[in-house]
Amino acid sequence: MEWLYCDFHIHTTWSDGSLSLKEVVELYGQSGFDAIAITDHLLDSRSLLKEKEKYGKHSSIEPDRYADYRRELRDAAHYAMETYNMLLLPGIELTNDTRKFHILAIDNTDALNPDLEVEDILQDIRNQGGISVACHPAVRNHSGAAPSEYLWSNMDRFSTMFDSWEVANRDDLFNSIGLKKFPYLANSDFHEERHFSSWKTLLRCTKNIEAVKEAIRKNDAVSIFLHRGGCIK
Ligand code: ZN
Ligand code: ZN
Repeated sequence: MEWLYCDFHIHTTWSDGSLSLKEVVELYGQSGFDAIAITDHLLDSRSLLKEKEKYGKHSSIEPDRYADYRRELRDAAHYAMETYNMLLLPGIELTNDTRKFHILAIDNTDALNPDLEVEDILQDIRNQGGISVACHPAVRNHSGAAPSEYLWSNMDRFSTMFDSWEVANRDDLFNSIGLKKFPYLANSDFHEERHFSSWKTLLRCTKNIEAVKEAIRKNDAVSIFLHRGGCIK
């Protein structure tokens, strides 16, 4: 069984990324990746209002455009498979900047609500057959900020509720995730081309969505690698 090159945390112009979905697919496809997840931000309602007042726009998928987002992801998944033999998993980053938690939902089937309690969000993701990931759970070196502070300070309570925790995000390594032996992934948190050079995940499984999800859940044939950009195959 082969090792798949994966990145499960990618933003596009649907939220605050600088590349369109099409450009992201070309970049990862041409570079030889096997599986990617598109996880644009969906902001909590209070942060949405705050951003709109301050900037007149916001860094989130427009909540009433969620169905369009999903439709475009379906078309892109088709194109990625036909053109590059690359899996594209639909996803979302539930971004609660009021309560300080960021959660990835990967391959969820329906809308999700970032205003809910963490436990309820995780239950909804599970009910939809999706994968939940605790994002950048500690202080980030590049910004000194900890946007998932709530997950960090309640780590033991949430430890087994998530399918996976980011042991690495872009340039950061979070030692405690490894020390605590939590199930892990490494992702780029891609927003712009320079983020392509970053920590990513290797998974040993067959190349289909259910096998990838099962490999993340089991977490016994997973590894991280520091991708220096460029083509990997
Ligand atoms: Zn985030
Ligand atoms: Zn992100």
